[in-house]
Amino acid sequence: MQQLNERSATANYQNFIDGRFVPNRGATLDVTNPATFEVIARVPESGPDVVDEAVQAARKAQPAWEKLPAIERARHLRSISEKIRASSEILAHLISQEQGKILPLARVEVNFTADYIDYMAEWARRIEGEILTSDRVGESIFLLRKPIGVTAGILPWNFPFFLIARKMAPALITGNTIVIKSSEETPLNAFAFATLVAETQLPAGVFNLVSGSGAATGAALSGHRDIGLVSFTGSVETGRKIMQTAAANLTRINLELGGKAPAIVLADANLDLAAKAIYDSRVINTGQVCNCAERVYVHRAVADAFIDRITTLMRATRYGDPLVDRDLHMGPLINRPSLDKVAAMVGRARDAGAEIVTGGKTATLARGYHYEPTVIVNCRADMEIMRKEIFGPVLPIQVVDSAEEAIALSNDSDYGLTSSIFTNDLNTAMRASRDLRFGETYINREHFEAMQGFHAGRRKSGIGGADGKHGLYEYTETQAVYLQHG
Ligand code: NAD
Repeated sequence: MQQLNERSATANYQNFIDGRFVPNRGATLDVTNPATFEVIARVPESGPDVVDEAVQAARKAQPAWEKLPAIERARHLRSISEKIRASSEILAHLISQEQGKILPLARVEVNFTADYIDYMAEWARRIEGEILTSDRVGESIFLLRKPIGVTAGILPWNFPFFLIARKMAPALITGNTIVIKSSEETPLNAFAFATLVAETQLPAGVFNLVSGSGAATGAALSGHRDIGLVSFTGSVETGRKIMQTAAANLTRINLELGGKAPAIVLADANLDLAAKAIYDSRVINTGQVCNCAERVYVHRAVADAFIDRITTLMRATRYGDPLVDRDLHMGPLINRPSLDKVAAMVGRARDAGAEIVTGGKTATLARGYHYEPTVIVNCRADMEIMRKEIFGPVLPIQVVDSAEEAIALSNDSDYGLTSSIFTNDLNTAMRASRDLRFGETYINREHFEAMQGFHAGRRKSGIGGADGKHGLYEYTETQAVYLQHG
């Protein structure tokens, strides 16, 4: 990891293909620190020829990788998680520098990544098929779980390091090989990941990394005929494009897309808990998390008290450059278009009659894409701010008169990733978990998933899911074997 620490903008970042770093033959993309506006690296913009090289390497490596006993594959995965833990501080700095998240959160991301790889490795002895009753005498029917073959992982920038593991660990433990495409905003942590992989005995071609833009590298990967599954995390718009590109080869897709998570606060809720949980889930990663609370429905009886509490918390939020000031709640937004988008959405909410209680402006720090932590009240269901993903530290609030109204408003959304409810009534909580049409529902806690759960979006939030047993099996396909014997 020594050389990673010393790299500069002129460093020669190279794709990792077939077990080695490959000199870049083409154009480069600039990588910018969102807290300082500095260009911190130039990385390869990989074209279709490079993508094809990576896919062919993965294809060549796959049959032998599949034949290896799963427990051996697990040992390879654990050798990577050990390397990650040993370099966790360098990795956290790198993530913070290119993505802008605060260091404590970057540390959580790195450690969670290592734990996630170990968790998936633990499945080695638990991948199971089935034996079925036959209609015939002397016949056994087996359902076998098989790897799909070569998989592709296309990543966003918001939890860039963890998402490598969320794709590669289930893919590898089930016997697939993988080509990862990092986000053009945050490729450096992925190069670091590849550097660690290169230090292990993982067979060449099992894990490959290509960097580049969505239009060039991502499209070439998702449209490649030798890819068996494209696992994508990112926006709805890109998910739709990937679905179209993958359709040419009828390639399987797994799409983890955007969210507009409702948080419902009822009259009997513990308001301190609700305010803190919703605040945490809105400010974490500067509001750039697919599952964080994006809209609040609060019961009229406690609306003023709740708004007071959440406004106090938002006003006390410290933000800035996470590598200069270590005592922050959040860093900058990822880039200029994101900052402009958040500012424009808040402006349109104000024009539509919503009231800004705190924040509501681009922050006046000298450097960095910072937006003030913002609370917006008097919101209505027809407002864009209650319907579109904001992806910034902005919380719109609508007052409701019942749990039923809140649930109906929550469900009336293009998105269906996560939801939460705050109530001390068990019946209300159970009714809400029955009626909320979302992939995840959190009751009396912040929006954040566990690795053994299942993270999956309804409606336009995605197709398929990740994590736990069900996420693992998305990387397998079933073969039925009929054995006629005497
Ligand atoms: P994005 O869709 O802009 O980009 C994601 C990736 O797709 C990048 O690597 C990009 O280069 C690539 N890409 C872009 N165009 C492509 C194309 N035509 N073909 C193939 N690849 C292409 O998303 P983003 O801005 O990086 O991430 C933010 C979004 O991700 C938000 O909407 C957020 O909600 C979502 N997200 C969802 C989850 C989840 O688990 N559901 C998790 C994290 C982020």
